[in-house]
Amino acid sequence: MANMQPNKTPMPEQDPKVRARNFGEVALGYTEEMARSEAARCLNCKNRPCVAGCPVNVHIPEFIAKVAEGDFAAAYEIIAETNSLPAVCGRVCPQESQCESKCVRGIKGEPVAIGRLERFVADWHMANGGVKTLTPPQNGHKVAVIGAGPAGLT
Ligand code: SF4
Repeated sequence: MANMQPNKTPMPEQDPKVRARNFGEVALGYTEEMARSEAARCLNCKNRPCVAGCPVNVHIPEFIAKVAEGDFAAAYEIIAETNSLPAVCGRVCPQESQCESKCVRGIKGEPVAIGRLERFVADWHMANGGVKTLTPPQNGHKVAVIGAGPAGLT
């Protein structure tokens, strides 16, 4: 059953007095329960407006449906079809002006926390399965990569 809470599931954060004394991330990430609860806010829209807002066309409702089921490995596989850096994108993408700006749940409340769910899935994968490196077959061409941002790393 859909979770009709109007607001996103809050992201746990370090206490300000604690985080002032370390260099760890302020945002601590969702627990499995939080991720499943937030994923249940997705309406699995047939026209998938959120995907149109994603520059790399992540299959958003499909991966979120797997999170809601608790099948986090399948959720990762779906994200990895189009995005090699979900842990980065889940943290630094401007979701508020991309995928989440198109989410229909944002009309009467806050959009689904797509970025937080992407981050959760990537972190879960690293904690439970490791990073799978895909090595395509050689094609004889050589390229130069300029820059070390997400595009260059990919
Ligand atoms: S627009 Fe929002 S509610 Fe609809 S499928 Fe995308 S994330 Fe889910």
